[in-house]
Amino acid sequence: LRADNETAAPAAVLDPSTPVGQRVDELLSRMTLADKLGQMTQAERAGVTPDQVTEYRLGSVLSGGGSAPDDNTPAGWADMYDAYQRAALATPLKIPMLYGVDAVHGNNNVPGSTIFPHNIGLGATRDPELVQRIGAATAEEVTGAGPDWTFAPCLCVARDDRWGRTYESFGEDPAIASSMTTLITGLQDGPAPILATAKHYLGDGGTTGGDDQGNTELSEAELRRIHLPPFQAAVDRGVGSVMISFSSWNGVKAHGSKFLITDLLKTELGFAGFTVSDWAGIDQLDGTPGFTQDEVVTAVNAGLDMLMVPENWTTFLDYLRAAVEAGEIPMARIDDANRRILTQKFKLGLFEKPFADRALTSTVGSAEHRELARQAVRESQVLLKNANDTLPLARTGGKIFVAGKSADDIGNQSGGWTLTWQGASGNTVPGTTILQGIRDAAGSGTTITYDRAGAGVDGTYRAAIAVIGETPYAEYEGDRPGGLGLDAEDTAVLAKLRAAGVPVIVVLVSGRPLDVASLVGGWDAFVAAWLPGSEGAGVADVLFGDYAPTGRLPVTWPASAAQEPINNGDGKAGLYAYGYGLSFDDREADTAPPSSPGTPAATASKLRWMAATDTGGSGLDGYDVLRDGALIGTTVATSLSIAKPSPGVHEFTVVARDKAGNRSAPSSPLVVTVPDPRGCKARDGICVVT
Ligand code: BGC
Repeated sequence: LRADNETAAPAAVLDPSTPVGQRVDELLSRMTLADKLGQMTQAERAGVTPDQVTEYRLGSVLSGGGSAPDDNTPAGWADMYDAYQRAALATPLKIPMLYGVDAVHGNNNVPGSTIFPHNIGLGATRDPELVQRIGAATAEEVTGAGPDWTFAPCLCVARDDRWGRTYESFGEDPAIASSMTTLITGLQDGPAPILATAKHYLGDGGTTGGDDQGNTELSEAELRRIHLPPFQAAVDRGVGSVMISFSSWNGVKAHGSKFLITDLLKTELGFAGFTVSDWAGIDQLDGTPGFTQDEVVTAVNAGLDMLMVPENWTTFLDYLRAAVEAGEIPMARIDDANRRILTQKFKLGLFEKPFADRALTSTVGSAEHRELARQAVRESQVLLKNANDTLPLARTGGKIFVAGKSADDIGNQSGGWTLTWQGASGNTVPGTTILQGIRDAAGSGTTITYDRAGAGVDGTYRAAIAVIGETPYAEYEGDRPGGLGLDAEDTAVLAKLRAAGVPVIVVLVSGRPLDVASLVGGWDAFVAAWLPGSEGAGVADVLFGDYAPTGRLPVTWPASAAQEPINNGDGKAGLYAYGYGLSFDDREADTAPPSSPGTPAATASKLRWMAATDTGGSGLDGYDVLRDGALIGTTVATSLSIAKPSPGVHEFTVVARDKAGNRSAPSSPLVVTVPDPRGCKARDGICVVT
């Protein structure tokens, strides 16, 4: 909880026992136009002084992409935050400000913070409860350093892996992103609440070619089916703010779309919080650099409540005032925006506790939070191949070779949005590298030899581990329209390890699937580690079997980037299907009974699953499909059309049969919620699932 407000403000406004709506009305009735326009303005810390916050009555300040105070420590942040907050409270009506940061995988701007896996890894965990705890832990670390607002979670549904923000997505399926809105509950309703942001509304992950800030070309029905459900889930969880997307829908910029912002989000979904633009988002409305008064009018009338204007925010205030005075923006729109912003400030308790809670500084990078992150890393690992039970590695002595550019690099593990916007290679933040994790897990009996380039590997090693993949990037810097191949360093390392003739284990550290189909045949084991963050030990926990893998692919893994966009249900066969993921019990070769099919996945009218490749020598006979434990069909194909089940929660499992009559263990269940058709609205994307 934040420290007490030392200043006084109108009694009815400050009395927390007064209902929020009344407090807002009371405050609004005292506000001048300058107060109201200031509330709608968010400047960037590097371009605004605390004195200006007072003078212009600004409602919010942000740190964009890691923009940090000179004293870049939790205490330094808290001092900076308090200085801005004191300035806000020095305005006539003493309205506290919101300070926004991109704490998108932990409090990632502040050195020493726990860095959690990026969202794509969290999607692989299929563990919303864990994600809620991550939200609460992040909020504690953020609050300890001052800020009261994070621009997270990104609820983008990434449909094309060439997009540079794929790792900010929980996955390609709207149901995953919807389930992970528990992060919002963790952030907003935990012991140290901060405001969450559902972003980027709407369709940011659906642009043609995976072009960041590009154009999402979809029918309204498809836009609603694929991209809207996570935002409905966020609204249902009471998310306080929604950030509008830079992207366009069928050629219209979201920042200028009254249909998307006002009609769909606020009116139809019932969003009661406030909307915020993306970074200088209004600059993009007319296709020319900078912004004009017309662009301000378009955005505010479309339904934007707060404008992120990192630069030229005084010009923005001038335009906003001129537009209101000219009647181009109705006063009712300005009041509505203020009502929404003030409501969130009251709900957050900012009027009572506006200052940084320095007692929470001790939670920054605490052992407890690092343990939580390590658990998330364990659960996010997806085992994609494990020939001859290469994994788990036994602690039987001997020598293991470790190579690859990401073996000893927490910066690579953490990816973009880590201290800086783009992130950076190197051990930029404290934590445990994957190499260190392997050394610790192997124990003293096993010799671990490391060489980044693979120099010195030979047949005397028990196994060789290549930790390879992507180096950090963020936003459009990570767009890869030309493909998703491994870089020359990675392919050279792999060639060296293969030449040694020992089992090769590949740990891929990347924000998305990469083109590996032509190489994977030469690997004995393959683990997708995603961007695990500061706790590399969690990867080693899986390699040595201290945690049996449970992660499932949150995206379809293409056979080649030429298949993009490739998504569950579109009929394209990738290298690994959406939902695929092995555990140590899964057998890939020559033992009966047949291996269980992967977790089924539902499409519009079908249930699909992975083929059970292991037929125990007697040949695969077919599959039994069960709903809630009862047989509903048999087939020799890997999909089954099923009739619409009655409303409720249903569990589908698939069992493989071989010709000798052996039955595999059931697949992991697919849980489908079928809403009551009478209460089923278009927004319930799941309605169409049968
Ligand atoms: C990104 C947002 C981010 C904002 C503030 C923008 O460039 O698109 O996701 O929240 O910057 O840093």
